[in-house]
Amino acid sequence: MGEEELKSLIELQEIDTKIAGLTGQKKRLPEIIDEAKQSLNTSQTDLSNIKTAYDNLLKEKRDKERIIDDEDVKIEKLKSKTSEIKTNEAYQALLHEIEAAKKVKSGLEDELLVVLEKAEEIKKELNTKEQKAKEEEKKFSVEESGIKADFVKVEDELNKFLKDRDEHRSRIGKDLLKRYAQLFESKNGLAVAAVKNGICLGCHMNIPPQTLTEIKKNSKIIQCFNCSRILYWKD
Ligand SMILES: [Zn+2]
Repeated sequence: MGEEELKSLIELQEIDTKIAGLTGQKKRLPEIIDEAKQSLNTSQTDLSNIKTAYDNLLKEKRDKERIIDDEDVKIEKLKSKTSEIKTNEAYQALLHEIEAAKKVKSGLEDELLVVLEKAEEIKKELNTKEQKAKEEEKKFSVEESGIKADFVKVEDELNKFLKDRDEHRSRIGKDLLKRYAQLFESKNGLAVAAVKNGICLGCHMNIPPQTLTEIKKNSKIIQCFNCSRILYWKD
């Protein structure tokens, strides 16, 4: 154990801190992409809703047109009967029936007109929403590529630090490495703490003077009597 080992340990902690940060960033990728996708999702839902409304109107239009056709057939049939009529009474009754059927047809045509007007309105809205969804798609696509490029950078950096970590680990004794790893885990990423103004910067306790003299040499592995962190001199 010596100065070099302690130096490697301090550097290892810096590397492990960076690795933890980069790993966290990497894990957030799906979340970040989801966030970026939100406005696209909203515009796609809007579009889908308006499409449904439009389809419903088209169906209503077809239904009305079919009923109007049926009504037409009925009127034609009634008209063809007029030649067979024998009495004036029956003739008047038939005319009434024809008039009634025409009235029904005319009412249906009015309804159809309302549906057509509505459909035209919705169609305009549909076009706008379609345009908006397309724009959002483009925007998201650009954003997504940016995010993915950033993460390639993160990945590269991470790989570099992982390699660096292996190198540093190889310079540190097995037992010390184990002690360090346990501390790094239990002390929230601060296993090696500096001593400044006679205080352990890990737990802010005063270090006894004799220990301080030892730490100043930076040549021995000394742990804080209070928090157990591995200490090094930094003044
Ligand atoms: Zn301490």
